[in-house]
Amino acid sequence: MPDHAFDSDTAFFLKSLGFPELKIHHAFNHFDFVRSSRRILVIGPMGSGKTEYSSRVWRESQQRGLIFIFPTLILNFRKSFFNASARLLLDLATDVFPLTAYCEHSDCTTDSFYIYRYYHVDGRECPALYFDPLIIVGGDARREDSREPNYCTRCDLHHYLPGKEYTFLVLKPLGAAAARGDLQGLREELYALHGDLSASQLQRSFAEHYNSGRPSDEINNNALRVACIAERALLFLFVEENLVSETQMQQLVGELDLDRDFLVRRLRDARRACRLDISIDSAEPRDLR
Ligand SMILES: [Zn+2]
Repeated sequence: MPDHAFDSDTAFFLKSLGFPELKIHHAFNHFDFVRSSRRILVIGPMGSGKTEYSSRVWRESQQRGLIFIFPTLILNFRKSFFNASARLLLDLATDVFPLTAYCEHSDCTTDSFYIYRYYHVDGRECPALYFDPLIIVGGDARREDSREPNYCTRCDLHHYLPGKEYTFLVLKPLGAAAARGDLQGLREELYALHGDLSASQLQRSFAEHYNSGRPSDEINNNALRVACIAERALLFLFVEENLVSETQMQQLVGELDLDRDFLVRRLRDARRACRLDISIDSAEPRDLR
């Protein structure tokens, strides 16, 4: 079980996430049961022992006054707040106990705070693209299907998250144009992502950012091997950014013949309604170039 003391870097990191001025504890200090009305937030990645630690404190707190314990994952694979509830818990907490886990990279045992999402494609580790759908419901089993993600805990160095620049500088502006009624730019990019990746702006962005001889370049480039990249990009704009309408979604799925099964599963995970089972009239083929 990890019992690493927290240093000032961790305190700074937590503060950078928007933690209020809280007392940040070392995880295995003697627990102070004297003060009452405390709301304890136990945070950390998978494998950090949140549940076990919380239940221990809870057990020991019985007849000493009520203490609320919230064991929670606060960060998602994008290193941002998991959801609004995670943010709310932070606002409600009076004390925070951050736990770490060991980095699960084979060459590393550094303290680690991040959830890493990746896929297996042909035996390769392929990091999730930044715009990968946030909510994917699934178990913990190792998955070789490149549509279903795997997770582990990684330190900053071994946490790969390619495509962030592309998401903000290309994909979201294309979505914003779609929201104004101009679908052509997004249509062309999705067409390239779906059928000819080398023609996509995503590929150009990767060539710019992950082509400088760093050891991480190869693994970041592996992200382009993952299946259904066009579908993931469209889901990001529809589900998370609300920039693409349901009608536009149906239109693009029909025109580009995107993977309905994948889309329907991810929409269900995100609890977003969108009828994709209907037949889209694409009798008049468009010039997509
Ligand atoms: Zn590491």
